[in-house]
Amino acid sequence: MSGMRPTGRLHLGHYFGVLTNWVRFQSEYESYFCIVDWHALTTKAQDTSGIKNNIYEIALDWLAAGIDPEVSTIYVQSGIPEIAELHLLLSMITQQNWVEREPTLKDMVRMLANDEEEARDKATYGLLGYPVLMSADILTFKGELVPVGKDQESHLEFARNLARKFNSTFGVDYFPEPRPEFTSTPLLKGTDGQKMGKSANNDIKLADTDADTTKQVLKMITDRTRIARTDPGHTDLCEVPWPMYKIFGADILDQVKTECESAQIGCVDCKKRLAGKINDSLRPIREKREQLAKDPEKVKQILEYGNKKARETAKQTLRDVREIMGLINWNND
Ligand code: SF4
Repeated sequence: MSGMRPTGRLHLGHYFGVLTNWVRFQSEYESYFCIVDWHALTTKAQDTSGIKNNIYEIALDWLAAGIDPEVSTIYVQSGIPEIAELHLLLSMITQQNWVEREPTLKDMVRMLANDEEEARDKATYGLLGYPVLMSADILTFKGELVPVGKDQESHLEFARNLARKFNSTFGVDYFPEPRPEFTSTPLLKGTDGQKMGKSANNDIKLADTDADTTKQVLKMITDRTRIARTDPGHTDLCEVPWPMYKIFGADILDQVKTECESAQIGCVDCKKRLAGKINDSLRPIREKREQLAKDPEKVKQILEYGNKKARETAKQTLRDVREIMGLINWNND
């Protein structure tokens, strides 16, 4: 089980950090992939204008990258009210200090607020409960393996603790303790050498055109010690293009190294060649995305189908949970 917030079109960091793993997992495990739109509200409740469209954009990226709706269950968090119910029920056994000591909460508030007053405004009950909601996302589907980025490690630990707490409180062995699966791909740097992110405008999106991609690649920081075109370059000091070549140009690595270190090629030409490699590699994804984008109704149907499949599992989990907790299972759904 895994999810993404609908905050915009996906970039290469998402693709290599997450999606390639998902595509691999879907043939090995029963997989649930969720567009977590409620999570977007934890930091952006005052501005929801982009959420609907971003759900659609993310779905397009997932499908184009190879997530198969016939194999995996692709759904939207707000389409599964049982997740909200489990969130509420789990919050009753979540100790206050568990959520307050979450390191990511403090980081998030610091990132979102300019001063103390703003920090108070941003630190909402919903944001505080973020790890409980994420636990509910996973436990509703009794997720065992969660492919996530390293930054989500503490949240996964939180979900494990909560699963354990539920089982011990009610004397059952019901929820498995979800374990993280971290990607083996090194973190992709953005064009400026920092972490790739769309707000930093240092990213290359799956849906970008060839021209957009070339423009971004030409901005990449190279070997800072190479001043003149005639200076030999150092691939080990080349900050962004060289690591990208290792992914997109593995077949010409030796050639690039020789040409760089003997100054046979300048960084501009070298980056133009890299852009060509990236565009060639992304072409099938981009073409598939373009085709899918022509039929928004079909994408909507895929999500509705996924919501329906996911709800069947979610309903059963909540029936079990109510029973375990000694609540009434009302016969009205
Ligand atoms: S020639 Fe290529 S590999 Fe060498 S420093 Fe420039 S961009 Fe990097």
